[in-house]
Amino acid sequence: MDQTTRRGLLIILSSPSGAGKTTLARKLMGWDETLRFSVSATTRPPRRGEEDGVHYHFVSEARFRNMVAEGEMLEHAHVFGHFYGSPLGPVKEAIEAGRDVLFDVDWQGAQQIARSALQDHVLSVFVLPPSIAELRRRLVERGQDAPEVISKRMQKSWDEISHWDGYDYVLVNGDLEISFARLKTIVEAERLRLAQQPGLTDFVRGLQSEFQESEE
Ligand code: 5GP
Repeated sequence: MDQTTRRGLLIILSSPSGAGKTTLARKLMGWDETLRFSVSATTRPPRRGEEDGVHYHFVSEARFRNMVAEGEMLEHAHVFGHFYGSPLGPVKEAIEAGRDVLFDVDWQGAQQIARSALQDHVLSVFVLPPSIAELRRRLVERGQDAPEVISKRMQKSWDEISHWDGYDYVLVNGDLEISFARLKTIVEAERLRLAQQPGLTDFVRGLQSEFQESEE
């Protein structure tokens, strides 16, 4: 192991719908190609432009229940009348390879991952909207959902926001570029934590040998 060896992070992004989490996740993926996105399984139907296996694995309820029963989910939750869950296999694979995984999950998922066997790898970030009016505007402008769905999502937003203080970091997303810059800073700092760099012990031993030799 050299000093650059890192343990993988599980980077969890949560927010109410429309606070900018998905855009931030996309930007983070574009910034660092080594990041792996955890493609969730869901029983909800695809929206326009969503691709199976890219945005979500779109599965039947029977398949979803089977994945949970077989222990194939790191976490799962019921959101807006549909099931969502993070498949465990790709996460384990990435962590074993020292790679970071990015999750776009709700507070229930964040809590379950933070209590899982992989809890030491967790970095959780909550994204708040600058105002409720702005949150509603973003949901309406997105134009992807019917008015009654938007109203349901606004109610769910309150539920989501009420869990804001269970996260390691909180971003108020008024300006996307500023929030993105802050998110990168958070990720870069967390990667440098002592606990994230197990190779440092050997590296410092090497420094010690070099030091002793140079003093002889
Ligand atoms: P959407 O249907 O808008 O894509 O997602 C609805 C909500 O479900 C979002 O808050 C999103 O973060 C959350 N979500 C997506 N995938 C998962 C998952 O695998 N687990 C959990 N717990 N929540 C998820």
